[in-house]
Amino acid sequence: MPAKPKVAFFDFTSCEGCQLTIVDLLQTHLGLVNLVEIVQFREAMTEKGEDYAIAFIEGSCTRKSDEDRLRKIREQAAVVVALGACAHLGGVNAMKNRWAIENVQTYVYGEDGKAMYESYEARPISAVIQVDAAIPGCPIDRFEFLHLVQKMLQGRAPKLPDYPLCVECKLKENACLNKLGKPCLGPITRAGCNAICPTYGDGCEGCRGWIPEANFDEMREILRGHGLSDADIDARFTMFNHYQMQHMGDDAPVTTTVSPVKDEPLPTSTFAAPQEEPVR
Ligand code: SF4
Ligand code: SF4
Ligand code: SF4
Repeated sequence: MPAKPKVAFFDFTSCEGCQLTIVDLLQTHLGLVNLVEIVQFREAMTEKGEDYAIAFIEGSCTRKSDEDRLRKIREQAAVVVALGACAHLGGVNAMKNRWAIENVQTYVYGEDGKAMYESYEARPISAVIQVDAAIPGCPIDRFEFLHLVQKMLQGRAPKLPDYPLCVECKLKENACLNKLGKPCLGPITRAGCNAICPTYGDGCEGCRGWIPEANFDEMREILRGHGLSDADIDARFTMFNHYQMQHMGDDAPVTTTVSPVKDEPLPTSTFAAPQEEPVR
């Protein structure tokens, strides 16, 4: 019997929700562990093997020291897969790139604490190392992960859908949210999640990234029709895709700047934490 491919999972700046999706998948598809040998997976096991051929990397690169760790993984792994929107796109972590990094550090850690935590512009892992495949989404779709593993074990290259989410949504016979007065980014977003958000009544936020040649102008017109301001629309376009917008330069389809503006203060939170009765 041929040796099973050795697989390792790594996390960088992330909420670990994508790894959790895989742990959850293993509850129902335990057969997967008969096909591969997992040598490192902090979320699921204590062993830590350094001999692996396939590396799944979750999370964005958000500090200089991440780069060395990423390069070390790349040197070891024959195949590197970006796992989820943080690793694939930079994801929600890259929203902070809107402000000067020292302002973000002060905002989060305070004047005294900011020097204690290293941080720089958040970026997808492909900005640092070569990536062979990606599983988009926040979190990933578990069946897309399964599909990718199957393809890799067959020695075939996985291919992401390059058509919009609306195709999947229509196949599910959903009523279109944009026609019902609810904003949805389905027309410009890459399919593959089976239109899960619109199916449950929520507009798509673009977590799988854009389709090639997305028509942002037309999407903006649709969103303006919902009464959204251009700044609101920019915020939707950049929620998961800030890094991409930032690096499109003059072609970025945004009306406000996506590059850091020195000295611009971060918004004040209007969230009021619930006051709990002290435990006696
Ligand atoms: S892509 Fe989403 S679910 Fe996955 S680690 Fe990032 S924030 Fe968490
Ligand atoms: S609800 Fe969204 S994804 Fe579905 S058809 Fe309408 S715009 Fe497209
Ligand atoms: S519907 Fe949109 S936001 Fe929701 S999971 Fe799919 S791509 Fe992401």
